[in-house]
Amino acid sequence: MNTPPFFSDFTIHHIRFTAEATTPILLDEFKGSAIRGAWQSYLSRAYCGAPPQVKAAPEHQAACPVCYLTSRDTGSESRRPFALRPPLERIPRYEPGQRFHFTFSLFGPNALFLLPYVALALHEVGETFGLGRFQPELQSRGRYRLARIDAYNPHARAQQAIMPEGSRTLTFPSLPVTADSIQLRAAQMAERLSARDNILHLHLKTPLRLIHHNQLMRRFQVVPFIQRLAERLFALAANYGQHPEWYQQDALRAFIAQIRPLAENVQVVQDDAAWWDVKGYSSRLKKYHYLGGLVGPIALRADDWRPLLPLLLWGESVQLGKNVVKGGGWYEITNNEQRTTNNG
Ligand SMILES: [Zn+2]
Repeated sequence: MNTPPFFSDFTIHHIRFTAEATTPILLDEFKGSAIRGAWQSYLSRAYCGAPPQVKAAPEHQAACPVCYLTSRDTGSESRRPFALRPPLERIPRYEPGQRFHFTFSLFGPNALFLLPYVALALHEVGETFGLGRFQPELQSRGRYRLARIDAYNPHARAQQAIMPEGSRTLTFPSLPVTADSIQLRAAQMAERLSARDNILHLHLKTPLRLIHHNQLMRRFQVVPFIQRLAERLFALAANYGQHPEWYQQDALRAFIAQIRPLAENVQVVQDDAAWWDVKGYSSRLKKYHYLGGLVGPIALRADDWRPLLPLLLWGESVQLGKNVVKGGGWYEITNNEQRTTNNG
């Protein structure tokens, strides 16, 4: 049997929001859970009045945009059609006039068609609903306005203003991450890596929280990282690609059998990742979320990166581990380039 061209039927749109605080906004160091919490609460309140047992029903989720985005495949948030890249600055507040960025990465065509809901809800969170901690003196949470929205493709290093500064009209984005853009970037990167001792630099930008053998992975290990990545991409492509039949359990097992020996031969040559113990309290849900994970730089060496690069590049775009919808598991291959880490 021929192997299908895995992930050639899968697309991702990175949509970057630039917000400007209009009142002080009080947030934790890790801002992903507050942004996602406010956005999801607003979406549910404004657009879906269904009771919990109805929300969980597949028929409802197929028809309701809110539940498609937020409750699909309840219990396994790694199968939701988006991931969030939160602002990275660990400051406790934004002052009026200060700008910050976050990115929603939307998986597959349906999520893309729901972009107006995503954007409208983020607009309303800033203008009326509020973000971050309640401030008694303002009698509200913090407020912002959406200054602009951009689509971007990190492989082409291209950007498209889909709601330019000063405008309120949203254009359809046309810069998806695709198998082609991944392949192009992988080829450039492979060449550069082989010229530099095949040392690949990974930067874990937000907490990577992986469970391995029923335990939290507290030190970076290559094999579980690569294996989880393959599992996540298969699950996403099965749900949001055009050919779910390509991504059955047998295909995943065969794929892992192929890449596992390669992953076993990758050496960790430098590990400066540290545990960031993030705990978010949701005042709306009255409970703690454990969001802690590994962050920081890691250097890896392989004899030949070519077979693993496409998977690693897809992983940059889909994020990995627990809490991707709250901003976790975002990493970048810095490929010996000194990039600043302040951009969402
Ligand atoms: Zn609903």
